[in-house]
Amino acid sequence: MNREKLLLLWTGLVIFIGLFGMGSFFSAWAAEYCVMIDPGHGGQEQGIELSRSVTEAAVVLSIGKRIEEILSPKKAIKVVLTRSDDRSVAVKDRKKAAQSAKADLYVSLHVNAGFGTKSLGYEVYFRGFDSTKSEKHTSKNVVNDMIETRCLNDSIRFSNIVQRELSKVFVRQGRGLRGAPVAVLQDIEMPAVLIELGFATNVKNRTMLLEKDTQKNIAKAISKSIEEYFSSAGSL
Ligand SMILES: [Zn+2]
Repeated sequence: MNREKLLLLWTGLVIFIGLFGMGSFFSAWAAEYCVMIDPGHGGQEQGIELSRSVTEAAVVLSIGKRIEEILSPKKAIKVVLTRSDDRSVAVKDRKKAAQSAKADLYVSLHVNAGFGTKSLGYEVYFRGFDSTKSEKHTSKNVVNDMIETRCLNDSIRFSNIVQRELSKVFVRQGRGLRGAPVAVLQDIEMPAVLIELGFATNVKNRTMLLEKDTQKNIAKAISKSIEEYFSSAGSL
């Protein structure tokens, strides 16, 4: 083998190792976790009115998009939105989208209303545990129960983090964690929570939610919670 051929062989080898190395480098950078952000309502269904021109659908969309903006540069977390504009999306399609994105966490965003004008603050809902399920203890049911329990535990773990972070935005306005049979959280095979971000029927909360700065702070608090949730789950 002459020197030229040897050089060519070495060059080829270096390129091959380079490409192979780059491949594993890029796969290491690929997102490890996926979070599905679900801005509630949209299109025909605008939810609660916060002012003549601003609806719940618009506020939660703006917060959802900000969360995406904050988390997107963090390569380890992929953010997917159930809607990124003002359109109607059926509840079943929201859940289907989360399922097909293989999301590791589902966060639905809403604004509360009612219970008089004095009620204020935020609530975090996770799916209520259905104790009537899988009464027959077949091995399949036992496995399903284990997955369900794990999802429930993780939903509660995330709820606790998000409750703590949101208390910095809504000071002394936490209304607690609630397990409830919320439609968007039922039959979804991943940890899932629904956050009610203050009351549109309360002047203080309504004013806050209409402020861009508060929306930004809510998005920051939720993004920080998502990061903490994933980093305490493993290898972030
Ligand atoms: Zn709503």
